Amino acid sequence: MRLKIIKSSMKKIIFATNNAHKLSEVRQILADVYEVVSLADMGITDDIPEPYDTFEENALTKAHTIAQQTGCDCFAEDTGLVIDALGGEPGVKSARYAGEARSTSANMELVLHKMQGVTNRQARFKTVVALLLEGKEYLFEGIAEGNILTAPSGGGGFGYDPIFEPLGYTQTFAQMPAELKNQISHRGKAVQKLLDFLHKV
Ligand code: IMP
Repeated sequence: MRLKIIKSSMKKIIFATNNAHKLSEVRQILADVYEVVSLADMGITDDIPEPYDTFEENALTKAHTIAQQTGCDCFAEDTGLVIDALGGEPGVKSARYAGEARSTSANMELVLHKMQGVTNRQARFKTVVALLLEGKEYLFEGIAEGNILTAPSGGGGFGYDPIFEPLGYTQTFAQMPAELKNQISHRGKAVQKLLDFLHKV
């Protein structure tokens, strides 16, 4: 099935996520070009498994799971926070770093606890977007470099945003306007690459 279903004047694209924050960010980026259809829009509320050790495999698995369920082309993404001093943790385990409850505050507390007294605060967010289009797989990567602060700052964003200060800025992702985060973030960069690709096909 073609990805770009023209029903109304706006082309539609399925984003295989149940994460409202990710959906909102991606909708902002694609707003002028695509109507982004979420899993909730399609009545799919199941948790999609992400059991692998790489962002690429997890993103592809999510996309394949939803493509099989819907029979439609779609894209999915997997994101994580990679901290040098923690040997790359929490990485692909970012959502469940402090346990199955997937508590954002517990995850941040665990990171801050492990980083106590650590001088190397370098970290990066990595997003891999996996697109399935007419049976073919395409991957798009976005990375945002930055540093882990010693305490959370800011009430915007989501996940680890309050403890991550992107390189070249004196605000965390949680302190900056959503538009600015989208311009410089891992997800913003990966989705922009997806958009550039879709413009060409
Ligand atoms: P997943 O990609 O749904 O597995 O999410 C991984 C984890 O990273 C979750 O705990 C999210 O809250 C967190 N996360 C994903 N994207 C971001 C982001 O843009 N900022 C901060 N945390 C994020």
